[in-house]
Amino acid sequence: MKKILISALLLMTALWGWSAQQTRWVKGNTHTHTNLSDGDEYPQRVARWYQDHGYHFLFITDHDMVTATLALDADGNRDDFIVIPGDEISLTFQKRQGHVCALNPKRLPVAQAGASMSETLQNAVDGAHQAGAIAVVNHPNRKWSINAEDMRMLRGVHHFEVFNLQRDSNNFSAGGKPGMEETWDTLLSGGILLYGVASDDAHDFLGEFLPSRDHPGKGWVVVRVGELTPEAVCAGLEKGVFYASTGVELGDLQVTEKEYRLSIKPYRDTAYTTQFIGKNGAILKEVFGLEATYAFKGDEQYVRAKVFSSGGELALCQPVFIKK
Ligand SMILES: [Zn+2]
Ligand SMILES: [Zn+2]
Repeated sequence: MKKILISALLLMTALWGWSAQQTRWVKGNTHTHTNLSDGDEYPQRVARWYQDHGYHFLFITDHDMVTATLALDADGNRDDFIVIPGDEISLTFQKRQGHVCALNPKRLPVAQAGASMSETLQNAVDGAHQAGAIAVVNHPNRKWSINAEDMRMLRGVHHFEVFNLQRDSNNFSAGGKPGMEETWDTLLSGGILLYGVASDDAHDFLGEFLPSRDHPGKGWVVVRVGELTPEAVCAGLEKGVFYASTGVELGDLQVTEKEYRLSIKPYRDTAYTTQFIGKNGAILKEVFGLEATYAFKGDEQYVRAKVFSSGGELALCQPVFIKK
């Protein structure tokens, strides 16, 4: 049997390497607005909400500006919580939105719309990178703005929002339109490495937290880090050592040369299904319960894991590419 090699480009070397070190999983939101752009609350209170609700890190990503986060971080009681700078580069092409989050930029990213949606997005991605940031393509299905073809043409971007918890983000497939997981599998099947992020894109902190409002606490990422610093969080995101969640909490997540393995933290009597998904979205294996393992065969092209619960919550784990 041929030895299975997993592309070194992908997260696995990171996971193998990290398992021996002292690491932990930290929870954070990558997309948040304050009243310095179109959110309804002061940056200090936005940060405070996340700190008070079990988060370890928060990126503030106001539109086309880098909100100062240093003062938010300097509060003496924030031992296990950090606020990291960000910017939502917010471009428009023919009334379609092309939004890209720049995570941890060293300066304000600069970008302008181009002659097509993909060129517009590429300009935003390049602007983020030139400012030293990670680029995340945001809510592609909002206003049905960005399709798989637009994203396929992009260079150098490895993150997108598979779930954006604003109400009009159209995360799921319906009405003959592809959902974000479908788009993800289309791009992965074409050999494009893309990691999926879930985020709140929170705007509404005041008033009632109703399903119709864009309040915090709906979607997040959980990243494996050695220490809680902006650099460590960004390194985990860049290596794909994280999962996206709308509620399912994992106990652990390990990928070795032979297998993809995870465990789920139970919530009351909630039931769980894990699917291991491969090329063209094919379900390779389905497992019930709190533990799930998939042994690589070598011909899958890629494998990712999805956990869903009887409560309607999800965890989406990152793809690994497999070569014979
Ligand atoms: Zn946006
Ligand atoms: Zn936003």
